[in-house]
Amino acid sequence: MFAAWSNPSNAGSPHILGELAAASIAAARATIAELIGASASEILFTSGATEANNLALMGIARWALETRNARRRIVVSAVEHKAVLEPAHWLKALGFEVVVVPVDSRGAIDCAALSMLVDEQTLLVSVMAANNETGVLQPMPDVVAICRRSGALIHCDGAQAVGKIPLDVVDLDLDYMSFSSHKMYGPAGVGGLYVSAAAPTPQPLHFGGGQQSGVRPGTEPVPLIIGFGAAARLARDRLDADAGHGRLLACRLLAKLDEYQVACRRITGDAPILPGSLSLLVPGVEADDLVALLRTTVCISTGSACTAGQVLPSHVLTAMGMDKVESSSVFRIYCGRYNTEAEIDLAATFIADACLRVRHRSGRLHQ
Ligand code: PLP
Repeated sequence: MFAAWSNPSNAGSPHILGELAAASIAAARATIAELIGASASEILFTSGATEANNLALMGIARWALETRNARRRIVVSAVEHKAVLEPAHWLKALGFEVVVVPVDSRGAIDCAALSMLVDEQTLLVSVMAANNETGVLQPMPDVVAICRRSGALIHCDGAQAVGKIPLDVVDLDLDYMSFSSHKMYGPAGVGGLYVSAAAPTPQPLHFGGGQQSGVRPGTEPVPLIIGFGAAARLARDRLDADAGHGRLLACRLLAKLDEYQVACRRITGDAPILPGSLSLLVPGVEADDLVALLRTTVCISTGSACTAGQVLPSHVLTAMGMDKVESSSVFRIYCGRYNTEAEIDLAATFIADACLRVRHRSGRLHQ
């Protein structure tokens, strides 16, 4: 990345610097393709998974309109990222029907409901590989099998999962998959969309200089793409080691919290989750207060979202059947590649101490 920043060049330029930039992009594209079992020609670079999701949903809707394909139903799960839910809802204005599939109390998609809702009118189904709030892994093979029965196209938001668990687009038989560099320790500002050679190409949402076959035009950010390629190579080489490390640290954190008598439970129950991911409910503890107290020591988040100054429970926790009180006591933590056991031990002491303080403040200590 530093080399590309020191010698800035446009991959479309007809001179040696342009050729070097184009070669760097081609190498990164090949590495990223290999990570997900795709061909290099099936990878489109975008600014991130938000744009990739928008391109998949809106680009395929445009394709259907322009090719006079009669299918008008789009099916999404209730726990999708807003970068899927928002474009899906926007498509209603263009005459598409958007159907939301429920999840169970663990956050896993209800496949029985999905198979009732996907029919011959269904254009596209979008289900994420791993949820960003709970880490729950969705049963993608079952989801794909249901889509194939009625000829619906299938898009997977792989932003949280690609680079963290093995995901092969050919084995899974996906049509489209979004992914993001910064979710696999690469630079922010770049991501991509896998478009199967066998699937319709999304119609572009941007128009310009014709780069990337005109499907996603714009001068490629060479240093970011190089960084993304390096991150993908590291992710491939360290996939198993990283997963083992994440699981170990998450188990250690849970054991330490138990040792410090922090009464908490995993809200995902026995659902399979992303290694290293923990979504915990601590009864009687306002997660927002916990996060605020730990702000400078432990990087944790809640599932709540602040919209126009109003704190709303997360749509993910609501879809899992949690009420406002329960969901306000949920916090999430991710044990990543660069975390150490010593950090986890320290984090556990900070969290345990903060839980006590929050309970004290709210007068719930002796309840
Ligand atoms: N989809 C999921 C599941 C995510 O977790 C995120 C990021 O938080 C996105 C999409 C958006 O990705 P990006 O930040 O690359 O636009």
